[in-house]
Amino acid sequence: MARIVMKFGGTSMAGTERIRRVANIVRKQAAGGNEVAVVVSAMAGETDRLVNFCREANALYDPAEYDVVVASGEQVTSGLLALTLQSLGCKARSWLGWQLPVRTIEAHAKARIEGIDADDLVASMEAGEIAVIPGFQGLSDDGRITTLGRGGSDTSAVAVAAAVKADRCDIYTDVDGVYTTDPRIVAKARKLKAVTYEEMLELASVGAKVLQTRSVGLAMKEGVRVQVLSSFVGDDAVPADELPGTMIVSEEEMIELVEKGEVERQHVTGIAHDKNEAKVILTRVPDKPGAVAHIFDPLAKAGINVDMIIQNVGRDKGETDVTFTVPQADLARAQALLEDKRDEIGYNRLITDSQIAKISVVGVGMKSHAGVASTMFQALADRGINIQAITTSEIKVSVLIDEDETELAVRVLHTAYGLDAADEAA
Ligand code: ADP
Ligand code: ASP
Ligand code: MG
Repeated sequence: MARIVMKFGGTSMAGTERIRRVANIVRKQAAGGNEVAVVVSAMAGETDRLVNFCREANALYDPAEYDVVVASGEQVTSGLLALTLQSLGCKARSWLGWQLPVRTIEAHAKARIEGIDADDLVASMEAGEIAVIPGFQGLSDDGRITTLGRGGSDTSAVAVAAAVKADRCDIYTDVDGVYTTDPRIVAKARKLKAVTYEEMLELASVGAKVLQTRSVGLAMKEGVRVQVLSSFVGDDAVPADELPGTMIVSEEEMIELVEKGEVERQHVTGIAHDKNEAKVILTRVPDKPGAVAHIFDPLAKAGINVDMIIQNVGRDKGETDVTFTVPQADLARAQALLEDKRDEIGYNRLITDSQIAKISVVGVGMKSHAGVASTMFQALADRGINIQAITTSEIKVSVLIDEDETELAVRVLHTAYGLDAADEAA
C-alpha cells in the first residue's frame, strides 16, 4: 500500500465528461489499495474568466477580493470530482483550503504556503476516504482566502504530499511528461524519463510552465517524489505506479540512472521560452557610482522583479544606457515609477518594448562543458536572429530576442544541441 497525491490540471478538469475520466483514474489508484488525496485545478479558461471579471469590476482591484473571486474555480471542480467519485461508488469528500487549513502568508494573489494542518486529512485517508482538495487556494493568518499565483495548484499538490508524507506526487496534465522543450512548439521534442530538481527548477523559472516554479522548489526542499504524466490515456495505459511519465529526481538518482544506462545525459537538457517579459531602456544615465542603484531601488521597493540587466559601455560625456527586463504585467507600474524618479536618476529617454521573448537553454552538463553559450549564439546568428541581451547562470544561458522569432529560435536551438527526436520513419 502506498500514499499517493494526484493532481489534475485545468484541461483534465474541463467539463463533466473529463472529470468522469479523472474520477476513473483516481478510482483505479485507490482500488490498488492506496490511500489517495487529489488536488484539482479550475476548469481550463475559468481562472482567466474570473480574473477578467475582477478587472471589469475595478481596474485597480483589491488583491484580497481578487482572491475571493479567483479561488472559486477550484471550489467548483473539487466538489464536482467528489460527487463524480461518489457516483462511481467511492467514498470521497472535498477539503477546501480554509477547512484544512492550508496556511499561507498574507501576500494576496501570490501567497506562499507556510504549512498544512493534515491530521484530519490523514485520518480520513486512513479510513479509506478519497480526499479532494482544491488547488491554488489557502488561508492567511488574518482569516482571509489567499491564492498562490497562476499555476499554483502544482504547488498545492506538492505541499499536500509533503504534509501527508506521500510516497509520490503525480502531476497529471495534458502532455505525458516533461519534454526537451514545449512539445506544442517543437514536434521533435523528446520526452525525458527523468530530470533533476535543479534543472526543472531552472526550466520552470524561465518559462516551461508544465510545473509552477515554486512547486519544484518545495519538492526539492521537502524531498517529495514528483512524476509528471498525462491524464489523457486509455484504459490500457501503463499504470502510474510503473512510472510512465517523467520523474523529477535528485542529482544522485540521476547519476545512478545514467550509470544503469536508463537515461542518456546531454550538455543541454531543455530549452524554454518566455513571452511575458518586457524590455526597458533608459538612455544617457550618468555613468557614476550610485546611478544604477537609483534605478533599481524604487523597483525593488515596489516588489517588481528585474531579470536581465545590461549596462552599455559609457559614452564620451560620462553617460551610459541601461537596459533591463521586468514582467509585462508590471511594466506600466515600472514605467510610472521611473518617470516619477526621472530627475533623481537623471536619464534622457525611457523606451519600452513588450514584443520580446526570452529563450533559455538549461543543463547541468554546462557546469563541466564549455561552448554551450557559443553554440547558442552561432545557431541564432546563422538564422539572422538578433540577440538583445544575455544572462547566464551555472546551468543556464538566456537571450532576449524579438518575440516574432520565438518559435524559430526554439526550433533552431533544439536542433543545434542535438535534442531532436529521431524521425519516426528513420
Ligand atoms: P495544467 O493545466 O495541467 O497545469 P499547464 O498548461 O499548466 O497544464 O502545463 C502543461 C503545458 O506545459 C503543456 O501543454 C505544454 O504546452 C507546456 N510546456 C511548456 N514546456 C514544456 C516542457 N518542457 N515539457 C512539457 N510541457 C511543456
Ligand atoms: N487555476 C489556477 C490557474 O489557472 C491554478 C492552476 O491551474 O494551477 O492559474
Ligand atoms: Mg499548470
